[in-house]
Amino acid sequence: MRVIDTKKITSSIITLIERASFEAPDEVLERFTSLRDAEEDETARATMEIILENAKIARRERLPLCQDCGSVVVFAEMGQDLRLEGAPFVEAVNEGIRKAYEMFYLRKSIVADPLRRENTGTNAPGFIHVDIIPGDVLTLTVMLKGGGSENMSSLKMFNPTASIDEIIDYIAAAVVDAGPNPCPPIFLSVGLGGTADAAMLNAKKAVLRGIGTRHPDPFYADLEDRIMERLNGSGVSGPGPLGFGGKATAAGVFVLTAPTHIASLPVALNMQCHSFRCEREAL
Ligand code: SF4
Repeated sequence: MRVIDTKKITSSIITLIERASFEAPDEVLERFTSLRDAEEDETARATMEIILENAKIARRERLPLCQDCGSVVVFAEMGQDLRLEGAPFVEAVNEGIRKAYEMFYLRKSIVADPLRRENTGTNAPGFIHVDIIPGDVLTLTVMLKGGGSENMSSLKMFNPTASIDEIIDYIAAAVVDAGPNPCPPIFLSVGLGGTADAAMLNAKKAVLRGIGTRHPDPFYADLEDRIMERLNGSGVSGPGPLGFGGKATAAGVFVLTAPTHIASLPVALNMQCHSFRCEREAL
């Protein structure tokens, strides 16, 4: 059985947080460049240019992509033929978070209690999701999630008789109502099906499929295209880049589905802001 010392997990979390904080992924920048080029509105075009410039400066100067350095969401895919040795897994992850936010001078945004609001001073704890999978590899994905975009999350438990048009109407209205709050262009993640909790988690996971990818099922690829068209299509008046108007409200739509109860049709939304910060490593 393969053994991993959890010190490796701590150092991987540090590396992933560093990369995510300062280096916007190339595919995100390519997407923003094409959105900028498609803008006819001068303000929207200039806004996209500033977003691109911000990403270049962050990479060059090792400055965070955004002042909100985010909650740390960790997705772990743990091979079942693997054994961990050393500090407990959750502690190893949180140690990585504590060290990274200190080492890289990142803003610490986590309060220990939702009503008493005392900052933990470390940005820990992280929000950790573990899936047990076949094999002996541990894959860690770190997502840094800003409060502004996370606050625009939503869930609606539809009647299963709802039409696809009704679902698209709900999604489009949620994005328009969110306005500038999630700092568009957003990467819109949609969890369809499951239970209420599974739909919300899938809404966060959907974007992990990869920027620039198409849904493997043509039915859902078409649904993603229809949602995208509703948000960015000609004649649509969405928030546009940072809410200043223009076409580029969404930079991508990602749907993740799950089996569901015969009486249920949950639709959950999670919005990733233009500071898309997500990195992955296999150990
Ligand atoms: S929503 Fe994103 S870009 Fe906007 S302030 Fe929050 S982290 Fe920064």
